Amino acid sequence: DPRLAARGLVKRYGPTTALAGVDVDLGEGEALAIMGPSGSGKSTLLHVLAGILVPDEGTVRLRGRRVEGLSERERSLLRRGRYGFVFQHGQLLSELTALENVAIASMLDGEPRASAQQLAAQWLATLGVAGEQDRRPGEMSGGQAQRVAVARALVTRPDVVFADEPTGSLDQATGQEVMRILVESTRAVGASLVVVTHDASVAAWCDRRIDVRDGLVVAGQGPVCGAAPV
Ligand code: ADP
Ligand code: ADP
Repeated sequence: DPRLAARGLVKRYGPTTALAGVDVDLGEGEALAIMGPSGSGKSTLLHVLAGILVPDEGTVRLRGRRVEGLSERERSLLRRGRYGFVFQHGQLLSELTALENVAIASMLDGEPRASAQQLAAQWLATLGVAGEQDRRPGEMSGGQAQRVAVARALVTRPDVVFADEPTGSLDQATGQEVMRILVESTRAVGASLVVVTHDASVAAWCDRRIDVRDGLVVAGQGPVCGAAPV
């Protein structure tokens, strides 16, 4: 069974149909890229898969259990405990140090302060930013900040990591390095990964890609690791 399975997703914003009937399977430990031009529905799809948005029609199942029917509060707990998030930028709390940013995610998931700080320090070391642990986001490079964001996404050992244009604010070389770290460390904890990107060199790090146009998946659907036209 897939870790995450979506069927028949429809999402409208007023007169705009952002998702027009989308099926997606995400395998155990699989890294999936969602590609498509601006306005095609990628972000909406990511947000529905992650339980941030509720679809107008269709179902999302995490390990067979329905997510889209849960209450706001249940989905919030699910996101904190089972999911990790990496966004383009602006996701770290600017008043907190790198260590605090990672530790707080762990504490929100129920870890006591002391062990949360220990876990945070270990993750920052694993991701090569131990030296940044007492710095605030504004005192780090973009690549360092994204490594901290990856540490924060993984510290709760999530089932699925969702990344929306994770390299969008980085130069090419730094973006590739962040993708390498994101894919390798996500795999190391056994999490599945969903990456929204318009950049084929970012998608190439994933096991599989689907292409979205006008709210529909137009390529790449089908068996896990099927060959999508590039
Ligand atoms: P992408 O991530 O591929 O750029 P989006 O999912 O952001 O696509 O948007 C898909 C469509 O839905 C677009 O036409 C966009 O303008 C529209 N849309 C997205 N969010 C909203 C919103 N909050 N209100 C109204 N329309 C929206
Ligand atoms: P049940 O109460 O049906 O036995 P569990 O106690 O095993 O379910 O649920 C464990 C946690 O998983 C609960 O805190 C619940 O909020 C959360 N959860 C709810 N829906 C889902 C879902 N679709 N997938 C994964 N976890 C979920």
